[in-house]
Amino acid sequence: MLAQGGRGSAILLLLALIGAGWLWLQLGQESAPRLSVWGVQGGAAAVGAVAGGGLSGVAQAQQQGRGLPSDARPQGNPLQAPNTVMTQGYGVGSHAPAAVWGGVDLAIDGNGDGAADPEGTQDHPVYATHDGVVKLTPNSWPGGNHLWLANDSYRTGYAHLAGYAVQDGQAVRRGELIGYVGTTGQSSGPHLHYDIWIYEGGSWVNVTPLEYGALDGTGQ
Ligand SMILES: [Zn+2]
Repeated sequence: MLAQGGRGSAILLLLALIGAGWLWLQLGQESAPRLSVWGVQGGAAAVGAVAGGGLSGVAQAQQQGRGLPSDARPQGNPLQAPNTVMTQGYGVGSHAPAAVWGGVDLAIDGNGDGAADPEGTQDHPVYATHDGVVKLTPNSWPGGNHLWLANDSYRTGYAHLAGYAVQDGQAVRRGELIGYVGTTGQSSGPHLHYDIWIYEGGSWVNVTPLEYGALDGTGQ
């Protein structure tokens, strides 16, 4: 009897362990599909290179001041204009797959007809949506004049710029002017390609800028 009882308990324990493992797997999958691992332009190694200069200083300032995530976390429309329109959404067209190319294309409707207006968009100022350190990649493909803004937890990409208002390695705060909209690289007209990445579980993962206020103030 004793031996049999012991075996029964062992089987129950085994079943409980299997159940817990299954639940753990389900929970893990629940949080995974939203995003995926960044897989281009050198991946995490390239990001490490971006993070190489002076990031710790920024992070320390954050923790002493208003705290991480408020200013470190991307928030708002990088064009800061109520007549911003989205010319290509997240994860569609050239923004697919979102895990690699996810982002949104933003332009200005200068004449109020509801559509992007090249004259109103070209050279429009671009503003940092969070605190970070600048990494410039001029004349790249497909991003043209590209700008990364990175800190320990977040980074944002700004592509196809006409020009830069900051220098490589410069630390900037949210709201600072960083560049001007253009149509450099693989682009059919003046617009800002804007993307957001989060450092999570040891790698950078792409998220939709629409959940970080990219169209704030536009009524969209
Ligand atoms: Zn784009």
